[in-house]
Amino acid sequence: SQGEIQLVVDRLEAVYNHAIVALHGVSLTIRRGEILALLGANGAGKSTTLKSISNLLQAERGQITRGSIHFEGIDVLRTRPSDLVRHGLVQVLEGRHCFRALNVEENLVTGGLGRGSSRVEIVQDLERVYSIFPGLKAKRRETSGLTSGGEQQMTAIGRALMSRPRLLVLDEPSMGLAPLIIRDIFRKLKSLNESEGLSILLAEQNSTVALQYADRATVLENGVAVLEGAAEVLRNRDDVRAFYLGER
Ligand code: ATP
Repeated sequence: SQGEIQLVVDRLEAVYNHAIVALHGVSLTIRRGEILALLGANGAGKSTTLKSISNLLQAERGQITRGSIHFEGIDVLRTRPSDLVRHGLVQVLEGRHCFRALNVEENLVTGGLGRGSSRVEIVQDLERVYSIFPGLKAKRRETSGLTSGGEQQMTAIGRALMSRPRLLVLDEPSMGLAPLIIRDIFRKLKSLNESEGLSILLAEQNSTVALQYADRATVLENGVAVLEGAAEVLRNRDDVRAFYLGER
């Protein structure tokens, strides 16, 4: 139900290539129905944290050396990435990951297939995604690689929604997009959060936008969570923004 703890990342340590330490003990929690922003400069460890949460670090030659991650009681680090998707933990990777050679609708369908949806469910879920992103319906037969950056990000998010997430994880959804498109995407995420109680964890370098829509934020610096608090509070702390987030 609303407010119960859904994800716990506990003192996570991660290294790449047995050498580079990327995380020095990161802890965070997400309650059902909340939006948590993971903030920090380039290289702070945001992507490493998110990939760990989907148990994708091994694919990057990375390794968790300490700590644990639990999602709704499931031991994430002992669960295959594809099984995490079936359990409702779904991630949109950095860089608007969609299959560039497939058309928009084919991309969306892969999200349903990944979850093991039936044909009927896929048809229903397509209509739902098109009602959220009407622009995608108009482009459903277009090759994804030829659509705009915003459309590719919406396709990537739509594909994740086709997997019926209970926790949606997004890595830098604003990256490379124009302000109006960013606003449009964040408003839609917020409305999914409010209407369905969908929990959202998003990593962002764009802290201004993230703090505007998030309930809480955790700030990473050099692989350590240095600050955690209500977005509303962090938003109004100029010192925090200047010091940790590199804003002037
Ligand atoms: P960005 O916004 O650039 O993705 P980030 O906050 O997500 O930054 P990470 O990508 O998690 O940071 O990087 C954390 C540290 O791990 C950095 O020092 C980075 O150079 C290193 N790192 C990340 N990915 C790899 C990799 N595949 N191999 C080796 N080192 C890596």
